Amino acid sequence: MKTIGILGGGQLGGMLCESLMKLGARVMFYDPDPHSPSFFRSPYHYQGEWNDFNKLKEFFSKCDVVTYEFENVSTELLNSLVQETSTPLIPSAHALTTTQNRIYEKNFLKENQFPVCAFFEIKNYEYISLTTKHLSFPFILKTATGGYDGKGQWFIADHNDLNKFANQFTKDNFVPLIAEEKIDIECEASCIVARDFNGNTVCFPIFDNVHAHHILKHTTVPSQLPDSVQNELKNIAIKAAEKLNVVGLLTTEFFITKQKSNYTHQNSVNGFYVYVNEFAPRPHNSGHITRNACNLSQFDAHARVLLNLPLHQPKLHPGYYCMGNLLGDCWISQGNKSELNLSSWQHQPEIIDVILYGKLEAKTNRKMGHFVSYSQNNGEHILAAERFEKGLN
Ligand code: ADP
Ligand code: MG
Repeated sequence: MKTIGILGGGQLGGMLCESLMKLGARVMFYDPDPHSPSFFRSPYHYQGEWNDFNKLKEFFSKCDVVTYEFENVSTELLNSLVQETSTPLIPSAHALTTTQNRIYEKNFLKENQFPVCAFFEIKNYEYISLTTKHLSFPFILKTATGGYDGKGQWFIADHNDLNKFANQFTKDNFVPLIAEEKIDIECEASCIVARDFNGNTVCFPIFDNVHAHHILKHTTVPSQLPDSVQNELKNIAIKAAEKLNVVGLLTTEFFITKQKSNYTHQNSVNGFYVYVNEFAPRPHNSGHITRNACNLSQFDAHARVLLNLPLHQPKLHPGYYCMGNLLGDCWISQGNKSELNLSSWQHQPEIIDVILYGKLEAKTNRKMGHFVSYSQNNGEHILAAERFEKGLN
């Protein structure tokens, strides 16, 4: 029996745990939060800080392989843990170093000729005002590390916004940033690739993603993009997994626009210009839909890689599926009860799945669960999702 360690005890780790247990593995979690929702899934869990070397070392030494659902751990520390314990980290700390820092990530894209939006590295405080020499308004500022779900991002429309932004910082509390051109997004999509120890890759179907307030709202399949664009996205995602030498999962997020860039010369595919937005070397929120819409989920694929079992090309089931996130706002609008009132679900057989993560406290924008709708008819999967969401508020 193999023991797989998961850094992070949230929902991604929890669903990965289900897939690993189906394959007879023992799962251990590590998380600083004693109320981590996935701790109840396994009797083996470590509560410790992300910089507690000794505790992490004990955790690593008890596992055959360690993976992560959470990216903001020092890769220097992870490298020393792998060296000291000889327990492999999958995907490697090397891949994580590039993907956890937006500056490294954007430079990796540029150096390897992947399509990327125009950007400018704000390495120190004085560089903030230099941004306008490289990008015209509007642009987006993002912290190089630590951001998620739109946290650590600022939309800068004009000089006034930029001055206001700069005034929040001094030389002492400055953190490195990246400025990105604002893309006139037609749609967003993601592609998950699984790659095994021998370098074999399989690719999930393309997911179409809709965000609200920088947070994923809906993921739908099958993608409505032309086949030529979908193939382009898959080729990029596979090449990126190979270049980053990822073993495990790599999610690539894309921006798709019909607007030709003022900064770069890029060929369109069927009238669409494609940019890589960012990578996540782990299961991804958009990939939840694979649990219902595919014969193999993202978690199953990752579990197979971790256990060194054969991978198969994932296939979509027929029909139309929509995954919607359930944010803490639904709980708050129902009076912040500990349980969500799902009584409207009984009239909605198109909602084929509701998953609740078991988080103790509902907060605005906190991902508390998700649901999946299904229809045989294109468009009705999204209408059903919207009706369900309306019934919860
Ligand atoms: P996070 O790590 O929070 O997911 P992202 O960089 O993916 O950060 O940004 C979250 C969302 O914000 C994106 O999915 C997109 O909707 C919007 N966004 C981010 N960067 C840009 C950009 N350069 N142009 C237009 N929209 C953007
Ligand atoms: Mg993102």
